Amino acid sequence: METSGFSDTQLQVREAIAKICSNFPDDYWAQHDESGEYPHELHKALSKDGWIGIALPEDLGGSGLGISEATLMLHTISESGAGMAGAQSIHANVYATQPVAKFATPSQRQRMLGKIIDGTWRVCFGVTEPNTGLETLKLKTQATPSGDTYKISGQKIWISSAQVATKMILLARTTPLEEVCKPSEGLSLFFIDFDPKQPGLELRKIKKMGGRAVDANEVFFDNYVIPKDSLIGKEGEGFKIVLHGMNAERCLLAGEALGLGYAALHKATTYAKERVVFGRPIGMNQGIQHPLAEAYMHLEAAKLATYHAARLYDRSTTDGTITQSAIGVACNSAKYLAAEAAFTACERSVLTLGGMGYAQEYHVERYLRECFVPRIAPVSREMIMNYVGEKVLGLPRSY
Ligand SMILES: Cc1cc2nc3c(=O)[nH]c(=O)nc-3n(C[C@H](O)[C@H](O)[C@H](O)COP(=O)(O)OP(=O)(O)OC[C@H]3O[C@@H](n4cnc5c(N)ncnc54)[C@H](O)[C@@H]3O)c2cc1C
Repeated sequence: METSGFSDTQLQVREAIAKICSNFPDDYWAQHDESGEYPHELHKALSKDGWIGIALPEDLGGSGLGISEATLMLHTISESGAGMAGAQSIHANVYATQPVAKFATPSQRQRMLGKIIDGTWRVCFGVTEPNTGLETLKLKTQATPSGDTYKISGQKIWISSAQVATKMILLARTTPLEEVCKPSEGLSLFFIDFDPKQPGLELRKIKKMGGRAVDANEVFFDNYVIPKDSLIGKEGEGFKIVLHGMNAERCLLAGEALGLGYAALHKATTYAKERVVFGRPIGMNQGIQHPLAEAYMHLEAAKLATYHAARLYDRSTTDGTITQSAIGVACNSAKYLAAEAAFTACERSVLTLGGMGYAQEYHVERYLRECFVPRIAPVSREMIMNYVGEKVLGLPRSY
């Protein structure tokens, strides 16, 4: 990847993360993908050196850097060959904590974030539900007040790292949909103990296509009791609050996709220089060379969109002229473009390696399996196009 234009701090982040990741070569990720074993060692190495708190405040033990640096960190992890699995094993701790840092009370921030930064706790992010999918505002998981507690009932799906997390950042309804004026009202954000040994909480692992080192789960709540002060911000304002984490998440996912795309391209160009057929390296053929050059340019363009979005997100804390809508459009567009560029690079990489592209030992088939994730999650390609069509182009709402 071309690194001109990144700040000195960002380049230092990239160098330090690449050094840590060099202890986790491609074979480590291939083995963990095969066995489904969680990459605990990466989380441990990153938390030991304080990286989990890269974008969290210094008074809590974080580094006080921005989502730009966090995006470059996840990008570098993914690019090391760790791919989406490596990035997903830590990313919720980085993005889902953003709304907590911004909207929690000072004592909640102290209690909730310090142990995530030092690696004692891990969080998972609980938004998606089986019966509502991308229609987040219709989600049905209910948090019902009961004395100085809430009782949670409902179901979540696709919750990453739930098998290893001890906390969940949860979006649930506190006012039924039928009783609110707008569907975005009546949702609340909670930071909860996540303990399947307690009554009312069950998990079921989902078998999946790629990134198998990181578990994905169905989560069932049945009158699961949490204390009242698990609530972050005001009751009923959870959607507005969680958007802060969701825009950060889109930047991070864009960075992760870029990393995967650059990793794939590196494998492809290395192979294309070495593999000789018909008396010359296959990379001498324009049929091989041009698609790789095109994939590179798509990655570089998506890189500009990604770090532009992250910069807007970071600058909005001090620059009141940057609107939430501008940030939303930039973060969604970046995630879309990076995911598509990664897909192109991964696909071209498999095709460049020919038969060996299909062999596990060359790793690009693993990258290709993983590169579907940023196209689907946390929001699909189609929903981003719906959003841009309506909110930017002013076309009639299509959904
Ligand atoms: C590996 C992985 C990890 C994940 N981790 C988490 C996590 O940790 N926490 C969490 O909360 N969620 C997580 N998710 C869930 C993810 O965010 C959702 O899968 C994603 O938001 C898509 O929702 P859905 O699967 O319900 O799709 P659906 O809503 O069922 O949509 C299915 C398809 O229909 C299309 N579609 C639907 N409506 C329209 C429309 N009006 N116009 C055009 N197209 C439409 C969609 O674009 C999509 O292609 C994860 C998912 C995956 C695959």
